[in-house]
Order: sequence, then structure tokens, then C-alpha cells
Amino acid sequence: MAAPFIESSWEKLDETFEVPLRPQTLAEFVGQEAVRTRLEILITAALERKEALGHCLFCGPPGLGKTTLAHILSKAMGTQLTITSGPQIEKPGDLAGLLTHLKAGDILFIDEIHRLSKVAEEYLYSAMEDFSLDLMIDAGPNARSVQVKLHPFTLVGATTRSGLLSSPMRSRFQITLRLDYYDEETLTKIVERSAKLLAISLDKKAAFEIARRSRGTPRIANNLLRWVRDVAQTQKCSPILSELAAHALQMLAIDERGLDEMDKKILTIIMDHHNGGPVGLNNLAAAVGEEAHTLEEVHEPFLIMQGFLERTPRGRKATTIAYQHLGKNKSEKTT
Ligand code: ADP
Repeated sequence: MAAPFIESSWEKLDETFEVPLRPQTLAEFVGQEAVRTRLEILITAALERKEALGHCLFCGPPGLGKTTLAHILSKAMGTQLTITSGPQIEKPGDLAGLLTHLKAGDILFIDEIHRLSKVAEEYLYSAMEDFSLDLMIDAGPNARSVQVKLHPFTLVGATTRSGLLSSPMRSRFQITLRLDYYDEETLTKIVERSAKLLAISLDKKAAFEIARRSRGTPRIANNLLRWVRDVAQTQKCSPILSELAAHALQMLAIDERGLDEMDKKILTIIMDHHNGGPVGLNNLAAAVGEEAHTLEEVHEPFLIMQGFLERTPRGRKATTIAYQHLGKNKSEKTT
């Protein structure tokens, strides 16, 4: 198993690339009001009772702030955060290693928790419920179980595919919080905040140009902001105005609805090779040269949300809006 990432000092975080932009408190976390309000209550109540936070599950597409919230929770509780992910925990022993290192109130963040193996998941049940682990040692006639007591800890799970979590797993979380794509106004605020932290001078319209091409995702907004800054720097433009931002983003082939080359390739293949669909996921993934689960977790949710794609029992279909957006005509493609 790869070593988990343990964060004990907040100063250390600043050495890494993403982190200066990561909000460090709930007050700095922009948008997702319903999630913030619920977390505020959980934190205040747990601090008052001097207990560990209840286990929390965050669901939602990548880049919306799940890991950031785990950092915020540990900072608010004044405890240590250990970060790992479902595929990193291969054997029950890996899980035991992680859990026995946790001190009272510490947070274990398991990203992609839907990819945890079945055995590891079952061990986690008693750890979450009774703070104990029943480990089997030895095999055959010598096999016996030993009970290991754990400190009360908080499990924070994150998943892009909550539907793949088993119901026993889901029911062991005190609270499930769903993160939604951010609207353009909120993303504009995030871009403005990040620009300030990176000492970039850009006007509100430029921030909006970046926000509306960011697929509702703060991580993408921050990446696009950095790209626009680089273009502005090479062209010696400051402050950054909307025209420059639009020009810089056109260079990345990101259109004004936020569709990138891969999104357009997906829609074009459905339209040109399958007359608009339906086409099966694996077939589509092979045609665009991408992993099926990346299509399902990254590209499709956004295309569906924007009304460009439909998931049907027989496969994926391009919608009329997609034809209009790409300037294609369905009837022409029947040949
Ligand atoms: P996830 O774990 O859901 O994939 P992250 O928590 O890693 O996403 O978020 C990616 C980046 O986006 C963070 O480093 C942070 O800079 C930024 N970010 C996410 N959510 C917000 C938010 N609500 N406000 C400001 N920045 C955010």
C-alpha cells in the first residue's frame, strides 16, 4: 500500500502547489451553503461535547471541494488528518495500520471510498460503529480472531459514485452531504478570491469569462485562471480584461459553454458514427480513447447537466441541444 498522506501542520500545506488556494475555514469556502450550514452545526456540537465528529460522507463529481472540506473539518476540530483512497487499501492489514495510528478525534479521509475492496469495507463497519477491529490472524486450524480497540475517530468518505456504495456502508455515516456543480456567480467569486491569493489583477468580467467555462468546478476554474495569468504575463497585459481571458481560453479549445476537446469528441462520435446514439459506454470509451469510468465520472455528468447528453438503458444519446451547439444537422448524418 502506498503511504498515506498525513497532514499535521498547516504551514506545511503551503509548500504544495494547489494548497495556497484551498480554503482553510468554512467561512472561506465559497458556495454550497446547505453543506456549510450542516457542517457548522456538526462541528459546534462535537466541540461542545468534546467528542469526535460523526462520520461524514461527501458525494459529488471531482474538483468540487470534498478533500478541501476534510482539511477544513480537521482544522476546525484541531485534530490530525490522514488521507488515503479506496484503491490504496488493498488488504485488511492496510486498514488496520491506518486505523491503529489514529488518535482520539483524528480524521481518516478515504477518497473514492466506492472503490474499497469488499473485505476492507466489512472491517470498516465495526471500526466505524464500535471503534474496534476484529482481525483474523493465521489461517486454517490455527486461525483466530483478535480484537483491537481503536480511539474514537471520524471517517470522512468521498465518492464520485454514491450509487456504488453498499447500503450497509452508507448507513454507517452520520451524515451524507452532496456537493453540486457551482453556478457561474459563485465560480466568479472563487476566481476572484484565487486571483487575489495569487496576486493576479483581473476585472470582474474576466473572472466571469473564466467562471462560465469552468464546468461548474472550482478546480477547473483555478487551473484556467493560472493559464490566463500565464498568457497575460507573456503578452505583458495587466490588469487582465475579459477579451484577453476569452482569447486565452480559446487557445485551449474551451468553448463558451465550458466544453473541452474531449467533450466535443464524445458528442461528435455519437453524432457522426452512431447517428446520435444510443451507443454503449464501452464502445464510446474505446472510440474516444478514454477509460469508461473517466467518461462516466468526469465528462458525462457535466454533459448531462448541460442537456447535451442523455443516458438511456440502451446507451448514450446526443440531444438536440448538442446538435445545435456543435452546428450539426441530424438528418444529414444518416448516410
Ligand atoms: P475534490 O476533493 O472534490 O476532488 P478538492 O477539495 O480537491 O476537490 O478541490 C479542488 C480545488 O478547488 C481546491 O484545492 C480548492 O482550491 C478549490 N475549491 C474547491 N471548492 C472550493 C470552494 N467552495 N471555494 C473555493 N475554492 C474551492
